[in-house]
Amino acid sequence: MTRQAHTTFSGGLGYLIDDRYLLHNPGARHPESPQRLLAIKEAIKIRRDAQRWRRIYPRKATHEELQLVHSPFLIERVEKASRRAPSYLDYDTAVSSESFETALLAAGGVLECIDGICSGDLRRVVAFVRPPGHHADHRSARGFCLFNNVALAAAYAIRKHGLERVAVVDIDVHHGNGTQSCFYNTPDVLYVSSHQSPLYPGTGDFSETGMDGGKGFTLNFPLPEATGDSTFVPLYTKIIAAVLDQYAPQIILVSAGFDGHVRDPLGGLDLTERAYRSAAASLMRAANRSCEGRICFVLEGGYSMQALKECTEAIMEQMELEYPEELQLREDSVFREISRRATTGFWKW
Ligand SMILES: [Zn+2]
Repeated sequence: MTRQAHTTFSGGLGYLIDDRYLLHNPGARHPESPQRLLAIKEAIKIRRDAQRWRRIYPRKATHEELQLVHSPFLIERVEKASRRAPSYLDYDTAVSSESFETALLAAGGVLECIDGICSGDLRRVVAFVRPPGHHADHRSARGFCLFNNVALAAAYAIRKHGLERVAVVDIDVHHGNGTQSCFYNTPDVLYVSSHQSPLYPGTGDFSETGMDGGKGFTLNFPLPEATGDSTFVPLYTKIIAAVLDQYAPQIILVSAGFDGHVRDPLGGLDLTERAYRSAAASLMRAANRSCEGRICFVLEGGYSMQALKECTEAIMEQMELEYPEELQLREDSVFREISRRATTGFWKW
């Protein structure tokens, strides 16, 4: 890789985490547990270079902010469900009495990160929030998600900070159907997702590429079960990096789920933390080229405590490098097949 010797960057590293994110409790045997955040906290604690990081503290998102993406009906539904907790919003989306407030803090926390980045104070941020968000859409909370943190962040960057091109890249093992549907008709947000298929929620086919003015600004890369690093790594170094360069986003938001890790009990991909380390590097390098490095990773899934720890460490380590390190792996036949099938109109790789 050529070093981009002439680029100068301002703004530092930020991370967001808060003990109040432990208060959303979907039940003792639910995989989206508060323990996930404790595992991440442990990984943050052992970061060698902690003094380089600025901690970001969350606030609650306002109803007006939630309505950038969500209907008043959904907001009321989540609030009411929390009031009569324990209850369910769909068969796998349980809420406890603190869930509504926690979800407001998750969404508001990510908006704080956007403010930090758009004001120039921060350049690379990672937000360890829960509950996750990428399955929630305009009027539904589902798939462990209450409000769509990343979609809200994208809409907020456009509305509040006047951005015109926001890229959302979803590395979670599940397709972010909520995020996709929020921006399906608009070119203001490029949504790119790699995910296992078939798997919940069943969307994210190659053929889903956007509609009307948004045609071509949704890109899906469904991956077969047991896909490993030799597909995932070149997908990011070769294809997704090239797409991002052509779109030239003003910020990159990453739906950072680590449930494609080989240890994950829900996902069926065979990725290692090295693949996540490399994908994160590809995205940061794309941000360096397009938007002075502005990037925000937002936690989505990931249900193996060990994998969460390893991926947190890997991503934070990479964030500390001006030019994060991509792996160069020989592409396998699954990669070649995906590259051939992802015909999207105007993107070239
Ligand atoms: Zn997931």
